[in-house]
Amino acid sequence: MDECLFCKIVNDEIPCEIVFENKHILAFRDTNPQAPTHILVIPRKHISTLNELETEDAELVGEILLTARNLAKVENIDQDGYRTVFNCNKDAGQTVFHIHLHLLGGRRFSWPPG
Ligand code: 5GP
Ligand code: ZN
Repeated sequence: MDECLFCKIVNDEIPCEIVFENKHILAFRDTNPQAPTHILVIPRKHISTLNELETEDAELVGEILLTARNLAKVENIDQDGYRTVFNCNKDAGQTVFHIHLHLLGGRRFSWPPG
């Protein structure tokens, strides 16, 4: 965890553009945005992948999703639409092993994803 990039962001060791924070959650802009809005919503608590989620994390994960919903409204992408993604492990392309929900919007996305 000492080497976890997003734990360093949580601990203020790496700067980022925060758009929302509370006791459990932090949301900040992705440094390599894939859409006009690209925000990452993370728990302050270190959880490396969705596979490590525990039953008692259910409320935390709900709060992450509700935060994405709220931020979509703030970013004014709620009506046109947006995509939320948790990548898990290599086949999904996860590169940072501290769970994060991508909130992407402001352009049209294709389906299925590449
Ligand atoms: P993943 O590929 O693991 O689903 O997503 C990791 C995301 O974190 C990528 O979209 C990447 O651009 C973003 N990212 C990586 N390092 C940093 C950083 O230091 N700061 C911020 N704000 N985003 C980062
Ligand atoms: Zn971490």
